[in-house]
Amino acid sequence: MMPDNSEQTPVTRCGLIAIVGRPNVGKSTLLNFLIGQKISITSRKPQTTRHRLLGIKTVDQVQMIFVDTPGLHSGQAKAINRYMNKTVQSVIQDVDLVLFLVDRMKWTDEDDLVLKQLEYCKAPVFLVLNKVDLIEDKEVLLPYIQEIQSRYPFAEIFPLSALRQHNVDALQAAIIKHLPYGDFYYPEDQLTDRNARFLAAEFIREKITRQIGDELPYEATVEIEEFKTEGNVVHISALILVEKSGQKKIIIGDRGSKLKLIGSEARKDIEELLGSKVMLNLWVKVKSGWSDDERALKSLGYDDFS
Ligand code: GDP
Ligand code: MG
Repeated sequence: MMPDNSEQTPVTRCGLIAIVGRPNVGKSTLLNFLIGQKISITSRKPQTTRHRLLGIKTVDQVQMIFVDTPGLHSGQAKAINRYMNKTVQSVIQDVDLVLFLVDRMKWTDEDDLVLKQLEYCKAPVFLVLNKVDLIEDKEVLLPYIQEIQSRYPFAEIFPLSALRQHNVDALQAAIIKHLPYGDFYYPEDQLTDRNARFLAAEFIREKITRQIGDELPYEATVEIEEFKTEGNVVHISALILVEKSGQKKIIIGDRGSKLKLIGSEARKDIEELLGSKVMLNLWVKVKSGWSDDERALKSLGYDDFS
């Protein structure tokens, strides 16, 4: 008898895609564009993304689940860096595809570190040469691509601009082709596995990073103390934790001007996310030495540390 496979033929595709790369190459920018909505925070400052974040996009018969990872970091000294490296290693183990982002043709030692981690990766790897909008003479790209192919058996190489949205459609088409057939993991309208509380804290952290710049090397963290809806308004109270009293002064600014700016910028983003009016209260508190203390990390919700 002929086997009847017709019932088993799956119609949908679903899979996990990791976005890896050193800090600042544009991972969060690409994720936000692929998803079509802001969920991941971006900044000119490296290491803005501290947590693993799922961005989910469902189009027709395909569900793409993107994993935005913190940038790999060569420094192992601090607990938070160990946490970040660990997340990347665990992420690339169980995905169907890896997007390895680099900044144009500026290959650095840190890129080599990422590539080294990919040796243990079973999934196909796409090399994404991001920020090509900044390259004036595009003709230099082709020989570079040929040269770079010798470093790793990349499944595909995409020069693109996440910011200007050049060639991202081609990338998405190729991603879809590499995803396995199977049922969706998430409802079709779900955008992320993170709740609004988490995203609100991330948005506040992004504004701090943007406003303060280099005076505050990734030491601020944000805890949401209250998140409740009253009528049409969502009331949010958030605590900004810093390491030193000097940093507290910087964040508050002259007569509270900096904190006010951070608050109003964050409020706009959160209102857009929630589609409702938001009342946002921010407080700043000194919590000394938290980034070097694994217990403190856990108590602040970095709980997939182990
Ligand atoms: P991540 O640390 O890898 O997540 O990088 P981000 O997404 O936070 O981006 C870092 C910086 O690079 C931000 O200032 C982005 O606006 C910028 N950026 C990202 N993609 C592009 C691009 O395609 N072209 C240009 N010119 N800038 C970009
Ligand atoms: Mg990022």
